[in-house]
Amino acid sequence: MHDLPDLNKFVEVRPGLWRCTIIWQVSVGVLVPVATFLVRGDSLEQGSDPAHDWLLVDSGAPMQVDTLLKAIDQVLAHEKDQLRFICITHAHIDHTGATPALLEKYPGAKVVVHEEEKPFICDGESFRSCTSDTWTFSLLKHFSHEADVRIPHERTVTLRDGDQWEFEHVLKFVETPGHTPGSASYLHIPTRSIMVGDAVMNIASMPLWSRIPCISGPLVMSTCHWGNAMKAIDKILSLKDDVDTIFPAHDYNVEGLHIDHVHEFHNPSNRQ
Ligand SMILES: [Zn+2]
Repeated sequence: MHDLPDLNKFVEVRPGLWRCTIIWQVSVGVLVPVATFLVRGDSLEQGSDPAHDWLLVDSGAPMQVDTLLKAIDQVLAHEKDQLRFICITHAHIDHTGATPALLEKYPGAKVVVHEEEKPFICDGESFRSCTSDTWTFSLLKHFSHEADVRIPHERTVTLRDGDQWEFEHVLKFVETPGHTPGSASYLHIPTRSIMVGDAVMNIASMPLWSRIPCISGPLVMSTCHWGNAMKAIDKILSLKDDVDTIFPAHDYNVEGLHIDHVHEFHNPSNRQ
């Protein structure tokens, strides 16, 4: 895995879209890649100057904060560069860790979050409060990776499908609840790429760092509502006219997954 091109640094994987992967040691011997994404906040209009507004999709695990901040500094190197929004796919600890540090460093930045995810990052609500359709989550939710942050309400922008926001021409907010009540995906419109958080994962290949797609849904043990999580994948696949590439947060493949691969995995006739 140490030959990952974007290990601990942002690499431009599509025009205007950068990916950085940091390895999260969940416990002894359990290593999980966690990708975060930087998006240039312009509309890629011909002839216009590069924008200095930046958007981040997810902010990694708490133990990754220093590495992520250094990686962001390398891209946002111009004195005018500003991080404007931290767009959260969901509140789990490995997707929200650097948010407080980034809000402190960039006083003008705000957090974009689904309305139903906000209590987990602002009010300390626990995922144990979720009712589930699986015994696995009902049993294991006490070990769920809770958010470890408290974001001030005034630093958030809550969205639902169709709500307008400042950079909607670049990054479209797509509700994909199931893994958590307010899970969301972000469609980078100019490059037809969608960042889906944990709605789809690609880490089960053996060896773990192989590039062969081994696609799965989210982890059952940390997924609040499995039926809705499957509907979320249906919804992502229904965007086929606007999407070529799916970028899961947990994936050793820097190029993401072509939507056709996810289609093969998630063929309803293969589903139980
Ligand atoms: Zn995750």
